[in-house]
Amino acid sequence: MDLLGLVGHPVGHSMSKVMHEAVFRKLGVSASYELFDVESGGLKSFIEGAREGFTGLNVTIPHKVSVIDFIDELSEVAELIGAVNTVKFEDGRAFGFNTDGIGFVESLRHEGVGVCGKNVLILGAGGAARAITFQSILEGAFVSLSNREEEKQMAVDLASEACGKTGGSVLVVDMDLESLKSHLAGVDILVNATPLGMHPRTEVSVIDAGIIPEGVVVVDIVYNPVETKLLREAGARGLKTVSGVGMLVHQGAEAERIWLGIEPPLETMYKAVLTALDVRK
Ligand code: NAP
Repeated sequence: MDLLGLVGHPVGHSMSKVMHEAVFRKLGVSASYELFDVESGGLKSFIEGAREGFTGLNVTIPHKVSVIDFIDELSEVAELIGAVNTVKFEDGRAFGFNTDGIGFVESLRHEGVGVCGKNVLILGAGGAARAITFQSILEGAFVSLSNREEEKQMAVDLASEACGKTGGSVLVVDMDLESLKSHLAGVDILVNATPLGMHPRTEVSVIDAGIIPEGVVVVDIVYNPVETKLLREAGARGLKTVSGVGMLVHQGAEAERIWLGIEPPLETMYKAVLTALDVRK
C-alpha cells in the first residue's frame, strides 16, 4: 500500500484527501492519503520519519518554502519557484517538486485556453502568484504582476527575480483603477491570485469586473466558492471564466503522476472536489 498525505498547518479545510481517495477508488489503487497537521517546529522530524515508509507527500502553508531544507533533490521548476508542494520518497531520498504552476496551466488547457504567447496579468504576488508566474513564463507567456499599493515591493521583487532567473520580461502594474484599465487593453488572461472573494468573505472582489475588456479570459484561483464574485460578474458580462477548482485538480493530478506513475481520471477528481465543496457550503 502506498502511503501518501498532506503536511501543513492547518489542514482541516483541505480537499486533497477527498480528491486523491476518489482516484484510488476509481482505479483500484492500493494507497491511502491522510492529513497531517504539523507546526513549523515539527516539520523536520515529520519529514525524516516519512522518508522510510511513505511514497510521497503534498506540502502546504506554511511549509512550502521551509521544507526545502529537508529535500535531497529539487526539480528544475521547484528550484525556480523556490517552493515545494509535492515530495516523492525513493530509497530513503526526498525529491521535491512544485505542481502548482503546472496545475494552473493545465487547468486552462482543460478549458481550451493556451498560455503560450499570451499576455497574462496576475493580481497578487504571494506564493501562488510565484508558481503561476514562473510556469507561465516557461510556457512562453508574457507576464505582468499587480499587487496592492502598500506591498507593491513584493511584485517588484518577484518580477525582477523572474526576469533574472528566466530571461523573460515581467512588467509590474500599479493596482489603481486607471493603471489597471489601461494595462488591461493588452491582456489576454487575467488571474486573481489573492484570497479576495474566498469564503466567508464572498462579497468582495480584487477588481471591478466592469473594467475587464471583452475577450479576456478571467481566472480565479480561489476555489471556495467555486464561482467567486469576480467570476460571477465576469461571466454575466459574457467573458470566459475558469475557476480555481481546475488548478487544484490539475496540481493533484500531476502529483499522482509523480508519486504513482498513473494517469488520473480528471473528471473523477473534479467531481469529488465539487461534491465536497457543495456539501460544505
Ligand atoms: P499568499 O502567499 O498569502 O499571497 C496572497 C497575495 O494576495 C499577496 O500578494 C497579498 O498581498 C495579496 N492580498 C491579500 N489580501 C489582499 C487584499 N485585501 N487586497 C489586495 N491584495 C491582497 O497566498 P497564496 O498562497 O498565494 O494564496 C492566494 C490564494 O490562492 C488563496 O486564496 C489560496 O487558497 C488560493 N490558492 C489556490 C490554489 C488552487 O489550487 N486553486 C493553489 C494555491 C493557492 P500583500 O503582499 O499586500 O499582502
